[in-house]
Amino acid sequence: MGVTENYQRIAAQVAARAQECGREADAVRLIAVSKTVEAPVVELAVQGGANDFGENRPECLVEKAQAYPDSTWHFIGNVQSRRVKDIVAHASLIHSLYQERHARKINDEAAKIGKVQDVLIEVNVSGEESKGGCTLDQAQELAQLCLELPNVRLRGLMTMAPRADEQAERLTFSGLAELHGKLKAAMEPADAAVFDELSMGMSEDWPVAVEYGATMVRIGRAIFSDSF
Ligand SMILES: *Cc1c(COP(=O)(O)O)cnc(C)c1O
Repeated sequence: MGVTENYQRIAAQVAARAQECGREADAVRLIAVSKTVEAPVVELAVQGGANDFGENRPECLVEKAQAYPDSTWHFIGNVQSRRVKDIVAHASLIHSLYQERHARKINDEAAKIGKVQDVLIEVNVSGEESKGGCTLDQAQELAQLCLELPNVRLRGLMTMAPRADEQAERLTFSGLAELHGKLKAAMEPADAAVFDELSMGMSEDWPVAVEYGATMVRIGRAIFSDSF
């Protein structure tokens, strides 16, 4: 199976799964996580209809976004202060914001280029030490800060579930959805109206995430790896 076919197969599965869960076929955006492949391979996914791509290293984001400017690029990796400028220059959406100082830095860099940067707050719902993201309490404070920054637009939440443990996946995804509802309910209508994204689900657990309301799934290996 090639990347083009993999992409098409997963896209069809995601649409079918959304409908199975009582949602619209196009309710879930498929983000092809191209972090493990060289830039030319991205073309194969584009041929399969891919429009959204995710990268976790700023230098790879810059390289691939420049090579494929018509695609939409998502930053899903660790934010570092000194790379914020590059990330803001190329990312349509930053999924992995979880520190206040980075929110301020994103705001500053976005202001310099006249951009309003869309962001998601990454939440470590499961509390696993190996995972990035803030606590549920910190998310509330960080959301408040984001709403006060004029060049940052808070679009939703992101999380990663523990691997290969379906019960923990369910708790993680339902926990993120619950936090989303709680934060949204406390927002002004204009802020609540654009706070509509839940980025959750990867190659192994995306069908469960779609059940709990994922609006974006980030899939890498199932599209780009021969051995998945
Ligand atoms: C690598 C990565 C993915 C994709 O993971 P797969 O298991 O390859 O589908 C999704 N989200 C983040 C944050 C990642 O770093």
